[in-house]
Amino acid sequence: MSKKVVFDKGKPKEFQYEFFGPIGALIVVMMTTTVVFGLYFGCNENGCPAHTQKIISMIQNTTFIDAYSFQLYLCWLGALILAWHVLPGEWVKGLPINEKGTRLEYKMNGFATSSLVLGITCGFIYIKGPECMELVWSRFLPLMTSAYVVSIFLSVYVYISSFIGKKQLAEGGNSGNVLYDWFIGRILNPRIGKFDIKVFCELRPGLILWIFLDIALACRQYVMLNGRITDSMVLVLIFHVWYVLDSLVCESAVLTTIDVTTDGFGYMLSFGDLVWVPFTYSLQARYLSFRPVDLGIGYTTAIILIQLLGYYIFRGSNSQKNRFRNDPTHPSVKNLKFIQTKRGSRLLIDGWWGKSRHMNYFGDWLMAWAWCLPVGFGSAIPYFYVAYFGVLLIHRYGRDDHKCNEKYGDDWKKYCQIVKYRIIPYVY
Ligand code: NDP
Repeated sequence: MSKKVVFDKGKPKEFQYEFFGPIGALIVVMMTTTVVFGLYFGCNENGCPAHTQKIISMIQNTTFIDAYSFQLYLCWLGALILAWHVLPGEWVKGLPINEKGTRLEYKMNGFATSSLVLGITCGFIYIKGPECMELVWSRFLPLMTSAYVVSIFLSVYVYISSFIGKKQLAEGGNSGNVLYDWFIGRILNPRIGKFDIKVFCELRPGLILWIFLDIALACRQYVMLNGRITDSMVLVLIFHVWYVLDSLVCESAVLTTIDVTTDGFGYMLSFGDLVWVPFTYSLQARYLSFRPVDLGIGYTTAIILIQLLGYYIFRGSNSQKNRFRNDPTHPSVKNLKFIQTKRGSRLLIDGWWGKSRHMNYFGDWLMAWAWCLPVGFGSAIPYFYVAYFGVLLIHRYGRDDHKCNEKYGDDWKKYCQIVKYRIIPYVY
C-alpha cells in the first residue's frame, strides 16, 4: 500500500492507497482485461493452450461484438431488473453505513429470480432441444465483450453520479485521483430510488449468467457427443449451480461482506461482477464442452468429498458470523466466546472463527479445487481458477486485516494473538 495526503473538511489526512495507487489500478485493469480475453483465445477447440499462430489468426477473424449480442445482453440485464421489481421479496436492513447508524434496505428476491431463469431455461431446452442453446455458446465472445462495455459504462456512470447530491462515499475510494477512485469505487451505495446497483450486481447479472453459460456449454457437449454429457460436466454443473443457488438462498449474508459494507462500487466490482465471474468461472464447463473427460466412479467420489468438506466449512463459517452479528441470542451462537471491542462490535473467537481468522476463505478454496479437478490433467489452464482464487483470498485477507487493524487497534491485536492462523489452521 502507498500513502497520499488528502484533505478532509480542510484538515490534512493520510490516505492509504491499495493496489499501489493509480499506476497499480491501471495495471490491474489491463491485466484483468487481458486475462478474460486471453483465456478465451488461449483455451478453445484450437488447443489449450492454443498455438500462438492460431491465436493470432483467431483474433483477426473473430467478431468481438455485434449489435445482436449486445441487445441480447441488454435484454438479459433488463429482464433481471424487471424481475427485481415484480417478484416478491423480503426487505432486509443492511449494517449501519455511517456514525449516525443509517441502515439501507435491500429487496431479497435473488433466489426467486434465479429459479425463474433456471425454470424457463430448462423448459426451453426440454421443448426445443439442447441445440437451441447454440444461440448462447456460439456468442460467448460477443456476449463477453458486451458485458465488458456495460461494466465500463456502469463504472463511469456511478463515478460521475458520486459527485451529484450528497452521497455516502467509500472511505477507501475518495483519494481525489480520478483513475484510482473510478477503479476502486468512490460511491459506497449507488442507488436509483430503492434499487441498489451494487447489491444487484453482486448477486444477479454475473452469478446467474455464470450458471446459464454453464448450462449452454453442457448443451454444446451433449450435441457434440451425440446425446450424452460426461460425469465431469455433470459435476461442474452441479457444483456451480449449487454455489450460486446457495449464495442466493443466503442472499442477505452479502450485506455483511466487505464488498457491501466497505468497498465502493467502481470498475473493480462492476467488471468483477459482470465480466470476470460469469466468463472466467465458466472456464471448466467451456473446456469440457470441447474436450470431454470421463472420470469414473472412484475419481468422481473423491471430488464430491472435497466439495462437501469445502461447502461444510464455507457455509458453516459464513452463516455463523452472519447469525452472530444479526441475531446474537440465537441458540446456535449465544454460547460462543467473543471479544467485546471498544468500537462496539464483537469478534468471535470460538466455533469456526476460533480455528482461523478466515475459515470461510479456506472452505471456498477447497471448493475451487473440486470445481477444477473434474477437467482431469490434460491442461493446466482450467486450473486457473484455483490459482487465481488462492491469490485473491490471500490479498483479500491482507486488505481485511488492514481494515480491522485500523478499526479495532489493540482489540484486533489481541484477537490475532488468540486466533493465530490466518486462513488454513496449522498451515497459514
Ligand atoms: P468476511 O465475510 O470474512 O468478512 C470479514 C469481516 O467480518 C471483517 O471485516 C469484520 O468486519 C468481520 N469479522 C472479522 N473477523 C470476525 C470475527 N472473528 N467475528 C465476527 N466478525 C468478524 O469477508 P469477505 O466479505 O471477504 O468474504 C465473504 C465470503 O465471500 C467468503 O466466504 C469468501 O470466500 C467469499 N468470497 C468469494 C469470492 C468469489 O469470487 N467467489 C470473492 C470474495 C469473497 P467488521 O468490520 O464488521 O467487524
